[in-house]
Amino acid sequence: MPLSPQRTIAELKELRALTSNENGAQRVAWTDTWLKAREWFASKLQGLPVEHHYDPAGNNWVTLSGASESSLLLGGHLDSVPNGGWLDGSLNVIAALEVLRRFTDEFRGQPPVTIRVVDWADEEGARFGRSLLGSSAFAGTHSIAADRVRTDRDGIKLEDALRRCGVEIDRFPEAAVERKNAAAYLELHIEQGPVLERLNLPLAVVLGTKGVERHLITFHGQEAHSGSTPMQHRRDALAAAAKLALEIRNIARKHPDAVCTMGSVKTFPGIVTAVVGRCEAALDQRDLDPQVLAQMFREAQEASRRFAEEEKCTVEWSRIWNIEPIAFHPALLDLCERSIHEVSGTSYRMPSGPLHDAAEVSRAGIPTVMLFVQSLRGISHNKIEDTREDHLALCVQALDRLASKTAAWILENR
Ligand SMILES: [Zn+2]
Repeated sequence: MPLSPQRTIAELKELRALTSNENGAQRVAWTDTWLKAREWFASKLQGLPVEHHYDPAGNNWVTLSGASESSLLLGGHLDSVPNGGWLDGSLNVIAALEVLRRFTDEFRGQPPVTIRVVDWADEEGARFGRSLLGSSAFAGTHSIAADRVRTDRDGIKLEDALRRCGVEIDRFPEAAVERKNAAAYLELHIEQGPVLERLNLPLAVVLGTKGVERHLITFHGQEAHSGSTPMQHRRDALAAAAKLALEIRNIARKHPDAVCTMGSVKTFPGIVTAVVGRCEAALDQRDLDPQVLAQMFREAQEASRRFAEEEKCTVEWSRIWNIEPIAFHPALLDLCERSIHEVSGTSYRMPSGPLHDAAEVSRAGIPTVMLFVQSLRGISHNKIEDTREDHLALCVQALDRLASKTAAWILENR
């Protein structure tokens, strides 16, 4: 079948009708609706000369064998957040399937390189708070001991939820076998932010995924009666945290793509009649450049000490989580830029703030690149998530061009 971006759009709508309700997509990993989405996807493979299996981490693999065993991987995720959108993750998988159909058609079932479509298991981490679960098993960066005991809101353990879907967490390391012959990885995704819409551009080359420093910052002051404690004698832990919440904006603004967010602040004792004795603030800092990230981290620490002193408080930091910036492959960035230019006459390069499975694949040493398509209103993880249909058609075409160029690149660089 020749490439049909309209079929991709129709299939996305089909999946939406099957796995959404009035609040949006409900394809949360390890639930019945997610399994239904995967069953639907498997039904689309009928008549194609492909091999289909789930690996020991629950990743869903479709392989079209080529003349060479060297494999071009195209990936995404059918899982969604609760009340999610119709495109996040699914677009990538369904567009990848369309590209596989085109290769099947053009090369009568045997393309020059092997083409593999992967639907990663539990990209979102929506139920157990562990994102990129399946792709981390593939990449060998999994954290089984910490993950198996995670529980969902109903107290169900992660390892039990996986077992119900036929996945044994102890077998996760075996998913690494899928890395065999993997020569390149491509991932299309909606932007999930407002940048491309503001620039009036349909598509972008993704330079890489930003590194993240995520810390819990605790300011210690003195709980005191809010009626009897004069202003000059207070040791108000919230005042110090509040100053920091404003300062991180200045710290981020020195760099074009950097972001800093204080997304959570808790006060203790947290009553209206007491000066805040203790304040816990969660800080998330991101940038693609490791030096910028390190500088922002340092500056936030220095600022927190300064504000603690001003408010007669003390401060301590503890790391919640971090990941290094992942830069995508330079040769593939160029191929991606050319592909976008061919279909849209435009080109633009930008980093990704959100993490994606592509980051894990890249960490495994496989040359990787992503492309973004514009998101309307910059909204995602919500039922109003949307992209113009002409842009959806363009992104399928761009992914298809990129796949052909990358296949040729694989053969040249074998
Ligand atoms: Zn996604």
